[in-house]
Amino acid sequence: WLTLPNPWNVPVDICADERVPLEPAAVDEVLSVLETADTLVRLAKAVPGHDGPPPRLTRLVLTPDFHKGAGIPIGTVIETEGALLPQAVGNDINCGMRLEVTSLTVEQVRPRLDALERRLRHLFFEGGRRIALTPAQREALLRDGLPGLLLTGDAPWQGHQPADAEDCLDRMHAPAHPTGTAEAFADWITSAGGSAGASHDSLIGSIGGGNHFAELQYVARVHDPAAAYAWGLAEGAVVLMVHSGSLSLGHQANATALDRLRQTWPTGLPRPRNQILPFLLDERTAAARRRYLDAFGNAANFAAGNRFFLALTMRAGLAAECGRMAARLVYDAPHNLFWQEGDRVVHRKGATPAGGHEQMSGGPYAMWGEPVIVPGSMGASSYLLRGHGNARTLASACHGAGRRVPRGATARAGDRDLDAFLRDFRVVTPLDHRDPTVARRADVMAAWRRDLKQEAPWAYKDIGPVVSSLHAGGVADPVAELRPLLTVKG
Ligand code: 5GP
Ligand code: MN
Ligand code: MN
Repeated sequence: WLTLPNPWNVPVDICADERVPLEPAAVDEVLSVLETADTLVRLAKAVPGHDGPPPRLTRLVLTPDFHKGAGIPIGTVIETEGALLPQAVGNDINCGMRLEVTSLTVEQVRPRLDALERRLRHLFFEGGRRIALTPAQREALLRDGLPGLLLTGDAPWQGHQPADAEDCLDRMHAPAHPTGTAEAFADWITSAGGSAGASHDSLIGSIGGGNHFAELQYVARVHDPAAAYAWGLAEGAVVLMVHSGSLSLGHQANATALDRLRQTWPTGLPRPRNQILPFLLDERTAAARRRYLDAFGNAANFAAGNRFFLALTMRAGLAAECGRMAARLVYDAPHNLFWQEGDRVVHRKGATPAGGHEQMSGGPYAMWGEPVIVPGSMGASSYLLRGHGNARTLASACHGAGRRVPRGATARAGDRDLDAFLRDFRVVTPLDHRDPTVARRADVMAAWRRDLKQEAPWAYKDIGPVVSSLHAGGVADPVAELRPLLTVKG
């Protein structure tokens, strides 16, 4: 643990052991975020007849994977009173990790990987699968989330969701997502100059670029047999992990919220240097806030639905190549959201909830705590842990290993490393690098290699020290280590 002293006397805790490198630029960024403590006080004074609770920045937590972001580091948890900070959620609203365990074993899947690679490329990137939502289904998904969608009419995905999953979805939705209406979203986007129309239909089922992925993994080691058993994980079991967010919906919701905040900024009050613009929780801004919350809820619901469809696509590929199989949800963990209770708001940007068992009523989590999904990279282990609800991290953990090298800086180095990586690991991308006609195109291959290097294992921190920081800090304990078999990057 480290605490960061600061002139505002806001408690700032960093959970990281000495082997986790701290990026100086990210620490500077934290100090700049803290200036929002002043912004809140000045804003409340500048608003004539401000009738809400006095806004305050009450606590800040940095997870072991924290690294510099565009204004607020990734891996930041911010607690406020009387204020809501859209930027503290990140642009990709409800980006998250979904983990499902299948009935297949690594011995069954390994010999089929060549065929699976072709099948998944076809399904994900060559039009092998269409997810056509009816207007009623789209509406249900955006307004009521995945549970709402699963209750509409007879759809091909009916029956895919076992009952135990709903428990987890309910928990995820109830406190987290204000329920918006689909019309409100359409409205909001149109007013932002975007086109609402059919755009989400063509998006749904897309992975999204960069660090998002759908990955086949297997349980390489069980650390906590009792919890692993309760969650259905045994050594050798094949699991699938999906990392995806709200694609363009979240960005649009946030951009529009910021436009509005800029337009309504009190004249005469200088804009904050850190460019972080809060909503005060008062009556005056209730209408604008309501519209943001609607769009936010729609984007969040879309993201959870998208992860579900990505997992279904992976299941379809597995079933086609490996025979009859079943899969069930272990957990769907959001890492870009806020949670509001009365005047208190907990914002997580690139940080995942890690509640303790006492916070998890009923179901398979009541005994063991909240599942915490921490991916490493496409060439390293990922971990499943169980949370302890540690108050010092506001019951939060990291959502990955975190970048070691900023985007762009990885491009120059490591052609030999990339070749070695490609020999040992399987990546499925829209471009088939083994296709001879593709391989002959030097320009195409160079661009592909450059993109892949951004995501290479060496672009990320070591997962080992990150996981042991969580353990040593009393934040979460490892349940199982997962190793990659095949990664779809989109
Ligand atoms: P984010 O992009 O949400 O900030 O972080 C996602 C995390 O996922 C990264 O910090 C990294 O540790 C991890 N990650 C990125 N790409 C992959 C991948 O292809 N496979 C796995 N298993 N993990 C990844
Ligand atoms: Mn994302
Ligand atoms: Mn993410």
